[in-house]
Amino acid sequence: MRKETVAIRTQSKRSHFKEHSGPIYMTSSYAFEDAEEMRALFSEEREGNIYSRYSNPNTSEFVEKMVLLEGAEDGWATASGMAAIFSTFGALLEKGDHIVSCRSVFGSTHKLLTEILPKFGIKNTYVDFDDYEGFQKKVNENTKMIYLETPSNPGLDIIDLSRVSKICKSKGILLVVDNCFATPIIQQPIRHGADIVIHSATKYIDGQGRSLGGVILGTSSLIQKIQAFARHTGPCLSPFNAWLLSKSLETLDVRLERHCKNALVVARWLETKSEVNWVKYPFLESHPQYELAKKQMSQGGGIITFEIKGGIKKGKQFLDQLKMFSLTANLGDTRSIATHPASTTHSKLSKEDRLAVGITDGLIRLSIGLEHTEDIVIDLNKAFSKT
Ligand SMILES: *Cc1c(COP(=O)(O)O)cnc(C)c1O
Repeated sequence: MRKETVAIRTQSKRSHFKEHSGPIYMTSSYAFEDAEEMRALFSEEREGNIYSRYSNPNTSEFVEKMVLLEGAEDGWATASGMAAIFSTFGALLEKGDHIVSCRSVFGSTHKLLTEILPKFGIKNTYVDFDDYEGFQKKVNENTKMIYLETPSNPGLDIIDLSRVSKICKSKGILLVVDNCFATPIIQQPIRHGADIVIHSATKYIDGQGRSLGGVILGTSSLIQKIQAFARHTGPCLSPFNAWLLSKSLETLDVRLERHCKNALVVARWLETKSEVNWVKYPFLESHPQYELAKKQMSQGGGIITFEIKGGIKKGKQFLDQLKMFSLTANLGDTRSIATHPASTTHSKLSKEDRLAVGITDGLIRLSIGLEHTEDIVIDLNKAFSKT
């Protein structure tokens, strides 16, 4: 079955009511037939649900869909994207290990790599996203994985997954990819040689700004280690959120198609505006890695960044003049969202550190929603004229 069908037709077993839409299994534990069944399940002689920190039918259905969409062998769902990232590190790394990662990672991932993992004796070295020689050179005898995000947040830098995967294979280390911005509809890192793919399901997978969630996909042997870690540390996804996310996957393909179509229209329009220094969108010919984006991704995604003339002051003023766009920290929602990283998410970084990851003072990040493009453009246009 093709992706669209898999996302709709993969269903866990229904109850005796034969409901068409899957029910929510709000239960913390599962009753056993008898002492013998209990023993067999606990000893893992038989497969089955025991306790919802271990497994739940809603979580299993969501994971099964994601496994099929990413072309993985197995998966594990978590309470948030960060829980997925931390569980991956926690399960696969130990004291003395080393990670090489791209500099332009998500803010909380940066904190994890630079402040939290060092407490457990795990070190990280950053490399610029396009420094392939650096990725090769920074790998040392303790390096266990290369960790990447592509397209990156908010820089929209594109990293050649096949190229980095070759480095990983030659060094015998893992390639872990945060695929949040692309989703499996646009990019499947496992096909390019990634060992583990991580998602913040909070973004496009939920797609309507309702719930947090995360998921890890990979080979059975790696996922087994992650399961063992997560079962006993408890970052499990709630049944309710798993139900929402599984339902959301039914519309992921159609939503993404519209997100991408709208974003390309808006990106091209922004390029014509005199108030703008530059526009970055993976499927614009002017994007520095346009050729690579076309090769690695099937569509350009829903995120655009641009630089407004006039730095921090104009950036903030512009946001204040938007009427329809939401000012909120999320992305991948049906509703268009605008953020100004220099005065918000990245305001604690020095200007130098901000620039190192491509966040200039006037950079504005747009998450283009599913509204009509004319309404999106009108809102942006009015904000430009009033700024
Ligand atoms: C939001 C985000 C995360 C973290 O996910 P949460 O669900 O908020 O924990 C990780 N990576 C990227 C690229 C993100 O955008």
